[in-house]
Amino acid sequence: MTGDGTRAVRAGVPEGEPYAAPLPGPTFASHFHLPGDPAVATYAYGRQGNPSWTALEAGIAELEEAVGAVVFPSGMAATTAVLFGLLRPGDAAVLPSDGYQLLPRVRERLQGFGITVRTAPTGNDAQVAVIDDDTRVVWVETPSNPGLDVCDIRRLAEAAHAHGALLVVDNTLATPLGQRPLALGADLSIASGTKALNGHGDVLLGYVAARDPELLDAVRAWRTESGAILGPMEAWLAHRGIATLQLRVERQDANALAVARALRERPEVSGVRYPGLPDDPGHAVAARQMRHFGCVVSFTLPDREFADRFLGALRLVSDATSFGGVRSTAERRGRWGGDDVPEGFVRLSVGVEDAADLIADLNRALDVSSAGSRAT
Ligand SMILES: *Cc1c(COP(=O)(O)O)cnc(C)c1O
Repeated sequence: MTGDGTRAVRAGVPEGEPYAAPLPGPTFASHFHLPGDPAVATYAYGRQGNPSWTALEAGIAELEEAVGAVVFPSGMAATTAVLFGLLRPGDAAVLPSDGYQLLPRVRERLQGFGITVRTAPTGNDAQVAVIDDDTRVVWVETPSNPGLDVCDIRRLAEAAHAHGALLVVDNTLATPLGQRPLALGADLSIASGTKALNGHGDVLLGYVAARDPELLDAVRAWRTESGAILGPMEAWLAHRGIATLQLRVERQDANALAVARALRERPEVSGVRYPGLPDDPGHAVAARQMRHFGCVVSFTLPDREFADRFLGALRLVSDATSFGGVRSTAERRGRWGGDDVPEGFVRLSVGVEDAADLIADLNRALDVSSAGSRAT
């Protein structure tokens, strides 16, 4: 197999035809010329298929080492397609208790449809303990957002399969170049491509990748029936961005490690988490299953006011949600109310700027916010 940089620039890009664009532009079409039987048509109606999705799906499938992928207009559309498309009343599902902040809302909806949901925090033993013979889907997020805890995908896959359940991994934070859940035994790898996969902060996107074509068919049927479809322009933009995924992931990973080390030197900063730090609680498992540790660093400042002063003083890091983009962002996660984190908890997404500039900016903002606390 070729290296990741080569794979990224070629992923889903068609064989070159004379005088054709290297990556054909977005196809804007609600319907396609359709002579005869629709069942044999490659493209018939825009809610069912679009060449810009096909190309992007081929690229994502190559990177995830999947038989195929199904793209969605957001990570949540991909999440709900898997959970509502695969679960039936009477089934049980296991969700992380510390996963993406909307999962508790989704849990309530699943329960409203007669699905039993058990939760456990990210970490192997706790998650394995709640899987039983009724469980149809085990959902894990590793590393988790925003706590950056890690679980062992191989071990969870074995535990899920022993009970006849499917393992779904939310691969948003790692990206398929950082971690290949399917090769580690997971049945489905899903992600919010809004984050590092697209990486430019200008597109919302989700996808589901799988090893089993029947599972993909079920997820694709959900997309057609729910109508949760990606626009062709978004598909093309994201595909264009994948060409630089390896460059971005490598740079952001190196920057994040440098930033995490620098933050640890500061007395105002506690609880620095980054799975790439050799003594991080998640490092041993992460090092076995990840090739890059991602761009997110989390840490805790003394209190809410301190964190707000810090975020306000940063010049190269904007106070914004989301993560994975080329421009660094940070936020006080407690402002959303959905995560179980201290008031001073900050989630920092490290971009592709120069590490020395970022570290200087972070140190300066910490100096400014410390001086503010002494003044009050
Ligand atoms: C952002 C995110 C989602 C939701 O994705 P959207 O594209 O915002 O709908 C799901 N899982 C994780 C881990 C995320 O970070």
